[in-house]
Amino acid sequence: MNQGTLTQEPRKSEDAEASGAGRVSVLFPLPLDKPFDYAWDGEPVPAGSFVAAPFGSREVTGVVWPSEEPPAPSNKLKKLGGSYDAPPLAPDLIAFIDWAAAYTMFPKGALLRMVMRVSDALTGPRMQTAFVRAAAPEGLRMTAQRKAVLAAAGDEPLSAADLAGAAGVSETVVRGLAEAGALARIEVDPDPPFAPPDLTKNGPSLSDDQQFAAETIGAIIDDGGHKAVLIDGVTGSGKTEVYFEAVAAALKKDPEAQALILLPEIALTLPFLKRVETRFGAAPAPWHSDLTAAQRRRSWRRVAEGNARLVVGARSALFLPFKKLRLIVVDEEHDNAYKQEEGVIYHARDLAVARGSLGDFPVVLASATPSLETVVNVDEGRYEAVGLSARFADAAMPDIRLVDMREEAPEAGRWLSPPLIDAVDQNLSVGEQSLLFLNRRGYAPLTLCRRCGHKMTAPGSDSMLVEHRFENRLVCHHTGFSMPKPSACPACNAVDSLTPCGPGVERVAEEARERWPDARIAVLSSDTAPGTASMREVLEAMKAGEIDILIATQVAAKGHHFPNLTLVGVVDADLGLAGGDLRAAERTYQLLSQVTGRAGRAEKPGRALLQTYQPQAPVLAALASGDRDAFLMAEALGRRDLGFPPYGRLAAIVLRSLDEKALEQTARKLKAAAPGADGVEVLGPARAPIYRLRGVARMRLLVKTRRNVNLQAYLSDWLKAVKIPGPVRLTVDINPYSFL
Ligand code: ADP
Repeated sequence: MNQGTLTQEPRKSEDAEASGAGRVSVLFPLPLDKPFDYAWDGEPVPAGSFVAAPFGSREVTGVVWPSEEPPAPSNKLKKLGGSYDAPPLAPDLIAFIDWAAAYTMFPKGALLRMVMRVSDALTGPRMQTAFVRAAAPEGLRMTAQRKAVLAAAGDEPLSAADLAGAAGVSETVVRGLAEAGALARIEVDPDPPFAPPDLTKNGPSLSDDQQFAAETIGAIIDDGGHKAVLIDGVTGSGKTEVYFEAVAAALKKDPEAQALILLPEIALTLPFLKRVETRFGAAPAPWHSDLTAAQRRRSWRRVAEGNARLVVGARSALFLPFKKLRLIVVDEEHDNAYKQEEGVIYHARDLAVARGSLGDFPVVLASATPSLETVVNVDEGRYEAVGLSARFADAAMPDIRLVDMREEAPEAGRWLSPPLIDAVDQNLSVGEQSLLFLNRRGYAPLTLCRRCGHKMTAPGSDSMLVEHRFENRLVCHHTGFSMPKPSACPACNAVDSLTPCGPGVERVAEEARERWPDARIAVLSSDTAPGTASMREVLEAMKAGEIDILIATQVAAKGHHFPNLTLVGVVDADLGLAGGDLRAAERTYQLLSQVTGRAGRAEKPGRALLQTYQPQAPVLAALASGDRDAFLMAEALGRRDLGFPPYGRLAAIVLRSLDEKALEQTARKLKAAAPGADGVEVLGPARAPIYRLRGVARMRLLVKTRRNVNLQAYLSDWLKAVKIPGPVRLTVDINPYSFL
């Protein structure tokens, strides 16, 4: 570890919560639940300080943690290494980590690790040498490489690496020029502060509805204290404008306050960041997976210092070290992308509300299709709600129609029905744009041998390989495995017998290109446009009207505004309904109403056609009639009858192993050890729907309890009593979403 910024003399502290002299407790960002005690005879170190301490044979960076246990005898303790010159974690973040660990049943250290993910946040450079152009000295020896560097250099200071990169030369050329005096060295802050939001700037003048919503939330912010409030309004009704007002109010109230806007990663686009910048006259601190290491460090440090007052980020921004967080907005609160399924399993919307409660500040949720959990919280009075009923400037809601595929079937081997084809024809003739939506990447979801019926799967896995014709490969969307498409069936060796079954976006695009050869057609999915830059290009082209028909997966469903898009065709509206997932219907409703909401957002009215084989399904009927509340009511009743969330609690215990026998035995043993308790039901063990992935087999037990049962306490008593053998891994997923 770089010791450069360790101050061996810990800072003086006036913090009352400082650990007592003689001893400090340190929590490490490792999968351990408890802090460890160290001897320290200097000035007290406040809780939340970053420190270095010997752990095993290494020195590890951790955080001083408030300790509830009686002090260990100090003569046995190892000595603390020292503390970092960095702002300590705020007490509400410490409380949040403690709470989130208990709630998710992951060790506290694993949660702390999420706060400390930015590896050089504590040790990285405080100052950096950069170069600007200087007057060229007499007799400077010129080479092509030197010329390139001087052409790239200017008044804007650039690091040696950036300058060398821009000129396509090595850093030695840059340094050589600096030695020769043709470049001047200056010291710059590698993590420049963020410009403060301009709070004197006003947003647009609001409609009555919007004004009422903004005032209601403003009053909650004024009152202070925690409250969760839902902005419930159709797409385009101005939810974003309303929560911008809330952000402005929270930041105005306290000159040190910070606010966080959370978005699903996929909706976190450059246009959105620009929109925030336009509204507040300064770019927000961004936090998403596309940032470079240096950008991450800058956001992290500036958030910790309190300089970054407005952060716009994906779910993990919840774990940034805010100095004084006073408001969280969770946009698209219903979105499943808020559920993190790997590492520490958590739902960022739920944790955001808990963070607000522990920090005693308001949390604003926004959605056009709120989750049933949130709707029930509103109904039962735990959350407040404000509604925006109409689209801004009276843009009409799209007219939604179901196409019964049993009656109006496409031609054999085709996927577009006659009514949808007619609608696209009409749109093309008047120069308006169409979106064909299919939430399936690739060409065909299943490849089957016509001769022996063999289905192509990934090795050691039960997941189907998806044909990607563009690359001529078969790809597993679960493990990432891919292979060239073989010319013969690997089971029976029949040549040319492998047949694609069912459509993906590439196949619908093939059909569209044949049918409308003169139309400008583009495909958008996470793999036809890998990397956000090219994805952005397609989205920009769509916005600019340079595309007639866009064929897309859900990457196009969220947050985009295409003024000339007036038709949305959903190729397979039944797709999300298959499978035994608790939230399948709800998710289908949310996704499809979001997609159909893309149509007619500007002056022109829009329409949507949903191709379905089950027009009688309640979710589709509700979409067609626009009766969201009836749908939610039916969903609520169904879940209440079965005691599922939000009317009961649910947890999954997932077991994984390469050793199927050990897995089965452990699952049975675990089930047998489940303590009997009132209001608790243990279901399973059952195999996961895709049982094996890369040779790892997975089984699951579901624990369903009444709402008044302490689910975590039950699980912890149970799991403590069972020894899980080495080859089996156990994870707990509180309130599970995905059942793959
Ligand atoms: P939502 O978040 O509900 O989808 P937005 O806030 O994005 O809605 O609003 C949709 C569009 O209407 C945006 O382009 C937005 O700038 C515009 N808009 C909404 N409210 C107003 C307003 N009061 N004045 C001017 N433009 C508005």
